[in-house]
Amino acid sequence: MRMAEIVAGAVLATSAVGVAQGASDPLRVWVGDPDAAAVHAWVQGHLDEAARLEAQLLAVKGPRTVENTLAPFDEATRALHTAGSGPGLLNNASPKKELRDVAQVEIQRVGKAGDELSLNRAVYEALRAVDVSKADAPTKFYMEKTLREYRLAGVDKDEATRNKVRDLQDKLTGLSLRYQRNIAESVGHIDVKDVTELEGLPADYMKRHPANAEGVITITTDEPDYRPVMTYAKSTALRERLFIAYNTRAYPVNKDLLLEVLSVRAELAHLLGFATWAELATADKMVGTPANVRLLIDELDKAARPAAAKEKAELIAFAKSKDASITEIPEYSSSYWVEQYKRATYGFDSQSVRSYFPFAQVQEGVLHAASRIFHVSFVPAKNAEVWDPSVTVFDVTDGVTPGGKKLGRIYLDMHPRAGKNKWFNASTVVTGKRDVALPEARLNGNFAGGESGDPGLMQYADVVTFFHEFGHMMHGVLGGHQEWVGIGPFAVEWDFVEAPSQMLEEFFANRAVIDTFAKDAKTGAPMPKELFDKMVKADAFARGITIERQLMLANYSLTMHDRAPQTVDLDALLHEGYLKYGAFTEAPENRMYATFTHLMGYSSNYYTYMQSKVIALDFFAQFDEKNLLDGPAAMRYRKTVLEPGGSVSANTLVKNFLGRPQSYEAVRKWINEEFAAPVK
Ligand SMILES: [Zn+2]
Repeated sequence: MRMAEIVAGAVLATSAVGVAQGASDPLRVWVGDPDAAAVHAWVQGHLDEAARLEAQLLAVKGPRTVENTLAPFDEATRALHTAGSGPGLLNNASPKKELRDVAQVEIQRVGKAGDELSLNRAVYEALRAVDVSKADAPTKFYMEKTLREYRLAGVDKDEATRNKVRDLQDKLTGLSLRYQRNIAESVGHIDVKDVTELEGLPADYMKRHPANAEGVITITTDEPDYRPVMTYAKSTALRERLFIAYNTRAYPVNKDLLLEVLSVRAELAHLLGFATWAELATADKMVGTPANVRLLIDELDKAARPAAAKEKAELIAFAKSKDASITEIPEYSSSYWVEQYKRATYGFDSQSVRSYFPFAQVQEGVLHAASRIFHVSFVPAKNAEVWDPSVTVFDVTDGVTPGGKKLGRIYLDMHPRAGKNKWFNASTVVTGKRDVALPEARLNGNFAGGESGDPGLMQYADVVTFFHEFGHMMHGVLGGHQEWVGIGPFAVEWDFVEAPSQMLEEFFANRAVIDTFAKDAKTGAPMPKELFDKMVKADAFARGITIERQLMLANYSLTMHDRAPQTVDLDALLHEGYLKYGAFTEAPENRMYATFTHLMGYSSNYYTYMQSKVIALDFFAQFDEKNLLDGPAAMRYRKTVLEPGGSVSANTLVKNFLGRPQSYEAVRKWINEEFAAPVK
């Protein structure tokens, strides 16, 4: 029955769009093995469809209704989503360079069309004229949210102001690109003349860094060079030198650019009627105001500070036992001492658990756990056409309704290959809409394995990442059945979107869940209890310090945006932050603001990570620890948090599941887990 809906959606789109040769599926660009021209034509078809719907809604004579105005607006939005997700997938995952190249051009074209719709005054006026007084609650919510977005973009202002807004936004885009390009292009390095300075680094690292003819070894500021030095190198002087090289990249050029960004943002905020950029940037978030961000920071600080102080004291005492001259730990030594402490205290070596996490077993374990938690089944879709033969496809069917109603589809694209995106993320493949199209999502992974004969032994952190991304996928599939695409699961407020994924991470540290799949690749023996306990303990260390560091960054990003830009002293604010939140002493030459890329995309809102984390832990605390997979909380979570998608505010989602607003009790407990009794 659900198949019929997909087909109906497809037919609807086909009749309007017309399908290019080679791209034979209107919703899945890769089907039919298209060439670059076919991809371009496929995207054009959807852009034409969006333009046709926009013209249709603008041409309406007489009273505006949900049917004659909001409905075509939402379908235009869906056409743009489809137009964007096709090339988005090819750019990230196509094995063909020709298609990745054309996809980049197409993504920009679709972005431009999206901007035009979201800044269109006539469309705004048309929507505003719709009478929604008799509409259902999700429709009212959708309309309210859409009109607010238009207003936050300045669409309701006079023409001169709108032109000015557009100019400032263009300027910001240019400045942001320059800031990021400067970072990409400024690779720093240090020269090491005495090889004993590299003591502590792994053998494969040394092999990758041979000395030149003069006996000099070059270490760059790129991540694969930088991280191991900060974590393993015994030489404090070496760590300090590399830390400074790393944290002065793109300095001073990006300092000036950042100050200019702050002043353009402030001007834009004023034009749109806000006192500061931070006010504008929080207006459409769960928090609503910068004052509420401060409240979040203060509450978390209260929760984390005692633990951070204890951890810091333990670390200093430990470091002192190795080197009596140590009285403080500078920031450039923090990773090193945390690593040494974990090894000595918990005897945990992250390599030792890998044999229990062969890829295929982990995947089966994640699917099994998710099917029990969310009451769904994953049915292999063996005949589904894929963009690369390594991709596996599952249909998600409902375990609650008789006959297993189809809910959507997931694509698992799990191993690295040439030209594929190097990160881990989940993305929408087909935007779901009730009675029109079922949601489809893709997991982009770069996990070990995938080659014949390689079991793909995974790191602990990789398994956690798998759970995390799977949380996004389930949110997408279970929440992708709204009446309108504009209130789909990922239309939910930005400071909530990481909550469902971070919540699923928590399931991983539970013995009952681990036992369903962590078995030795060769012998099949389950992970010994002692090793499991060590793993969990080591993972729980330094949470207070980590949270304090996140708070420092959240505070820094907010503070530079909540005042007049000409009063902002980037160095002084950074220094104040270290004094207030930093567990470690500051390196005075640190200019990290020149490479803090989050300041471009997140601007004042770095706090969003912490906000989602607080909610995720609060959610997780509602599950019965002794019956995680089968307790009643899971279905309630699916119904009240995931299934509504973005059809209500995130604050309402939270209240509906918890019966109250978010609290800090769960995060406090999580931070202090390291001091609690050993895990059962
Ligand atoms: Zn995520």
